[in-house]
Amino acid sequence: MTRIEFLGTGTSHGIPVIGCHCPVCTSSDPHDKRYRSSILIQKGNTSVVIDTGYEFRLQALRAGIEHLDAVLYTHSHSDHLMGLDDLRVFTGDAKLPVYSTSSVLDSIESVFPYAFHDMPYKGVPRLERRAVAEHSSFTVGNLEFTVIPVMHGCMRIAGYRFGKCAYITDVSDMLFDENDGYLDGIDILIIGALRDKPHWSHFTFSQAVKNAKHIGAKHVYFTHINHATSYSEINMRFAPYAESAYDSLVLEVDDD
Ligand SMILES: [Zn+2]
Ligand SMILES: [Zn+2]
Ligand SMILES: [Zn+2]
Repeated sequence: MTRIEFLGTGTSHGIPVIGCHCPVCTSSDPHDKRYRSSILIQKGNTSVVIDTGYEFRLQALRAGIEHLDAVLYTHSHSDHLMGLDDLRVFTGDAKLPVYSTSSVLDSIESVFPYAFHDMPYKGVPRLERRAVAEHSSFTVGNLEFTVIPVMHGCMRIAGYRFGKCAYITDVSDMLFDENDGYLDGIDILIIGALRDKPHWSHFTFSQAVKNAKHIGAKHVYFTHINHATSYSEINMRFAPYAESAYDSLVLEVDDD
């Protein structure tokens, strides 16, 4: 059994957007409050998060995270990265492994150089680079991941497959030719879908559904959603095949 908890499901602004009075930002539905996108994946005693946005501390407290074996990064945009400093509670004498492609790790290290120093200032997060090649697989405790490259506008970023699930956010092109075979047999696809209006670096809901069907995913959860569409409207329009994830949603996925 693999347990997935959505720590955040919002786009870079989060929802509500500061100063916005639109129907979604002022909605009384708790599903319409979205922190920046991130998930916690647990299997047995292994715990991994993908991305650490601005609210990482609040998300970790809400989810009761007490231990992490690794952090995986999709890319270095600040809504996926800027909570990194709070990883320090999960690092001690042993460094916390941080996985992504080498170009993403380079850019993370340029923002937080002190977290990767050999002789760090006392109290800073102590992280260890683990560069992984596109389409390579790697193991963290009981979990095995495969790196799925996708395009985010003009930027090449990482998605991750684990078992029959995949987490692919901030995507505007699934690179079907390159990923041929790597996305076969996906039961649960968690995919970034911003809104209905086309965007140069993110899928719309319909594009996300079309791409999910193309790879044969059995069920879809949208994440990285903006304030143009409410949780209930998304589900009214796209269920049962696809639905909106929401903060604190937990999925328990059979591994067989
Ligand atoms: Zn983002
Ligand atoms: Zn709004
Ligand atoms: Zn991004």
